[in-house]
Amino acid sequence: MKIMPNRMDRGFFQYQDEFENKALEVLRSGWYVLGKEVSSFEEEFAAYTGAKYCVGLASGLDALWLAFRVLGIGEGDEVIVQGNTYIASVMGITINGATPIFVEPDDYYQIDPAKIEEKITDKTKAILVVHLYGQASNMEPIVSLCKKYHLRLVEDCAQSHGACYRGQMTGTFGDIGCFSFYPSKNLGAFGDGGAIVTNDENIAKDMKIYRNYGSEKRYYNKVVGTNSRLDELQAGLLRVRLSHMDELTAEKQAIGARYLAELHNDKITLPKLLDGATHVYHQFVIRCKDRDRLIAYLNEKEIGTIIHYPIPPHLAEAYRYLGFREGDFPITETLANEVLSIPMYNGMTKEEQDYVIDAINAF
Ligand SMILES: *Cc1c(COP(=O)(O)O)cnc(C)c1O
Repeated sequence: MKIMPNRMDRGFFQYQDEFENKALEVLRSGWYVLGKEVSSFEEEFAAYTGAKYCVGLASGLDALWLAFRVLGIGEGDEVIVQGNTYIASVMGITINGATPIFVEPDDYYQIDPAKIEEKITDKTKAILVVHLYGQASNMEPIVSLCKKYHLRLVEDCAQSHGACYRGQMTGTFGDIGCFSFYPSKNLGAFGDGGAIVTNDENIAKDMKIYRNYGSEKRYYNKVVGTNSRLDELQAGLLRVRLSHMDELTAEKQAIGARYLAELHNDKITLPKLLDGATHVYHQFVIRCKDRDRLIAYLNEKEIGTIIHYPIPPHLAEAYRYLGFREGDFPITETLANEVLSIPMYNGMTKEEQDYVIDAINAF
């Protein structure tokens, strides 16, 4: 049986008629950018997260860098972020000229709240929390630190649509929650897309200005903005998927629960669940000291896997100018050498799950 790490086609076929009808509706409408699909999606996604406002954007990376831009964070400022994140989180900081200050992760692969305070300086302006792999981070200590030191709080929710901490949705704990709708994400579009959510009316207003060349009123440009608009087709298709989000999340959580209950192998470490947090399994990430052999073994059985992520941002060529070396963040680096994401997607059949479980248990 051939199993790929992700099957985005399955996600399409789950609601094929609804997607096709919506696509035709938008195509026939004659209105393709910033119209009623985008504004309806913004209302519906805000309601879904429990935030007051949502602003649709062109990508998750745009959501991140525009978040710091709107908050006025740039040259000379420091932003605290976990070391073991996807590089886009860090680019959201550095595009603005600000400096990322890395913190090692905890046992749940999220930023370790106990290691943040020692990194706070006069230059620290914000904490960027990444709810990595789809599990909500330990928000209570982080929110208190932000209050104590008057720091902005931005959340990278590109992998955590629908994940909650103590019943509250990720993206709503601080100033801005940043989302990606890249096709492989839990709420995926059929192309690129992103959004921010916020409870601050001024932030929402500024974000709308920035995404459209810095203009609120056509041809009156207040700031140097960008072109980062979610288009009508993607917004319409996202509305279809969002209307099924609860069942899609439950489906992934059921696969995650099966993996946790049925994977038994001393060579493999399973993900740990944080008390009070939910996990929506954007990825199901196991660890193995003998990862190369495990990958080769699974390849032979035609089970595809992905490493999220093999090179931590502090060791990426792009960030050589920050001056870090191997050994600077040992936990982050060990994770980069051991983590492996196994197949996990909506529409994964029971037979496919059985096959993956049996193969890993027999390794
Ligand atoms: C996907 C992702 C992003 C970037 O989103 P794009 O829409 O691809 O720009 C940022 N942060 C994390 C954690 C991601 O997984």
